[in-house]
Amino acid sequence: MSNNNATPLSIADKLARPELVDMVPYQSARRLFASGDTSQTGNNAAEQKIWLNANEASGRGEYQLSAENINRYPDFQPTSLLNAYSNYCNLAKEKILATRGADEGIELIIRSFCRAYQDSILICPPTYGMYAISAENHGAGIISVPLVNNTLNLAALAEQVGQVKVVFLCSPGNPTGNILPREQILAAIDLFLGSAMVVIDEAYIEFCPEQSTTKLLADFDNVIILRTLSKAFALAGLRCGFTLANEPVITLLSKVIAPYPISAPVAELASKALTDDIALMKARVEQVNHLRASLSAWLITQPWCSEVFASDANFVLFRCTSQAEKTRLFELLVANNLLIRDQSKQAQLESCLRISIGSEHEINQLQQLLSAS
Ligand SMILES: *Cc1c(COP(=O)(O)O)cnc(C)c1O
Repeated sequence: MSNNNATPLSIADKLARPELVDMVPYQSARRLFASGDTSQTGNNAAEQKIWLNANEASGRGEYQLSAENINRYPDFQPTSLLNAYSNYCNLAKEKILATRGADEGIELIIRSFCRAYQDSILICPPTYGMYAISAENHGAGIISVPLVNNTLNLAALAEQVGQVKVVFLCSPGNPTGNILPREQILAAIDLFLGSAMVVIDEAYIEFCPEQSTTKLLADFDNVIILRTLSKAFALAGLRCGFTLANEPVITLLSKVIAPYPISAPVAELASKALTDDIALMKARVEQVNHLRASLSAWLITQPWCSEVFASDANFVLFRCTSQAEKTRLFELLVANNLLIRDQSKQAQLESCLRISIGSEHEINQLQQLLSAS
């Protein structure tokens, strides 16, 4: 069987779980475009790029670190941080777990509920990529029940009752942008009552806060809500998110999470943002929602645009008249150092591009480049 011409397997690949050897890691906006690139930090002004590909905020607050007690381990769950988030979301701190981004929440949920090579999660594509990546990493199965007109297919979901342990709903959806109808979320929770946890990913809920489902925790024990400081709070670099659930779920996830998941500097900055900067966050949200509305209205009037998806988040998804037009526009922007996200490989999203709402200046530049095209 030996083949002298083949590159020998590294010891890592030889010993690895076989399914990981050829696995492709999550293609984050950063991995796709930032490798070896210093222009993001402004080291080379001529090469400075406009980043509208990762749904980050364009402006930030001001922070100072005390770095006191940095010689000590932090609390497992820093009290000041839990108190601050508890005030913000109106839930008791026993129902909150702080994590390294919402992404860690996704991973903890899968590792806590799914036995490797036995249990499955359910996703509703087009949706956020990390649910499937985390499931694959852990050896959990993935059952897909695609969205229909950007809403849940409840009849198809009903057929999966008993087949899955965790159902991931993204609302507002990424990359689609729209909120799921409340009665559909309720119907899904009801369908899986007693058989699966229903996770509602609210990474973008600050852009439509009246739609939050946190009150459902009082009535249903199979609900988990994911939150993050990466989007509306403009703290993607901090890596801080929250999992909201009833106490038995939080107790379970606490057994699986690392012993000191939140570093002291992260706890300090996040607590400050949640205490002093709520008004700043709300002003940012208002500005984004305003820019998004005008960008959406403009996009639909363009000759190369065939569809603009409704959005309740800090980005807009639109469809180009053809795959060739999509490629042309994307490459035109890249050539001008303006990065947006190609979503055209996702199910149902042929010829679709996603624009994160940056500053007014950045969106103006994007419109100028595309108008001239
Ligand atoms: C950005 C995003 C996340 C991850 O957020 P982090 O807190 O930065 O890990 C989770 N879910 C959705 C839908 C997202 O868009």
